[in-house]
Amino acid sequence: MSPSGPIPHVQCCHVGPIPGRGIAISNLSPAEVTRYERQITLDGWGREAQEHLKSSQVLIAGAGGLASATALYLMAGGLGAMRLVDGSRVSLADLNHQVLFRERDLGKPKAAIAERRLKEINPFVTVESHGKVLSQHNVLRLAANCHVLIDASNNAGAGALLNLAAAKQHIPLVYARVWAMTGLLTTFWPGRGPCLACASLEAPENHHPALLSPLPGIMGALQALEVLRLLGGLGPALLGRVLIFKGDQFMFAEKIIRSNPQCPVCAA
Ligand SMILES: [Zn+2]
Repeated sequence: MSPSGPIPHVQCCHVGPIPGRGIAISNLSPAEVTRYERQITLDGWGREAQEHLKSSQVLIAGAGGLASATALYLMAGGLGAMRLVDGSRVSLADLNHQVLFRERDLGKPKAAIAERRLKEINPFVTVESHGKVLSQHNVLRLAANCHVLIDASNNAGAGALLNLAAAKQHIPLVYARVWAMTGLLTTFWPGRGPCLACASLEAPENHHPALLSPLPGIMGALQALEVLRLLGGLGPALLGRVLIFKGDQFMFAEKIIRSNPQCPVCAA
């Protein structure tokens, strides 16, 4: 993918609420109010957004480098519940960028280790891990009752499955990819904007791409920010926009993507 130029400005995209979000609003305990004080006192966020966040559940596909940052900030930020799916085990080559893991975790299932470590960050968040590969047989069950799906898998097959689940549930899919010194991030929302099948995103398909250690952390933190925006009711910043980070030039760029009227996923 070639960047189309510098970002002129960031716009909030008002496309209506996520189905199911905000039906039951969770009250915050006094300890949670103190814990999230920096957010609750933030102009444009506040207690209502924090309570919506606590009422929300997400599915994160992948427990690698992207998820190490995405999941960590969603936990710290005060999400309600997180379901994590990853069928792989920690290897030595993961440790340069998958910062959830330690040397003592080598050979162990990533999903279970990630669950344990994430729970240490914030005991108010429910975390459920599934040490399995995302498949057409389990994706809808794993996505059930979620308000946002998060693709942190760096895997084209998982992306397509999550896109179908997002279309079926009419919910957003926040999608990130990293390779070499490049990262990309966008939000798909079948029915309200383009979906993954509408767009032609040309991230190289490589399950173990060469990359410098901070890249997944940078994109994962941005992915968490977009998810927080969606769950807090601020709306997606990246619906119809692909944010591209070029680490070798320290430059952000964007590409506009549009719904495809012929898209079979959106039409279904
Ligand atoms: Zn589509």
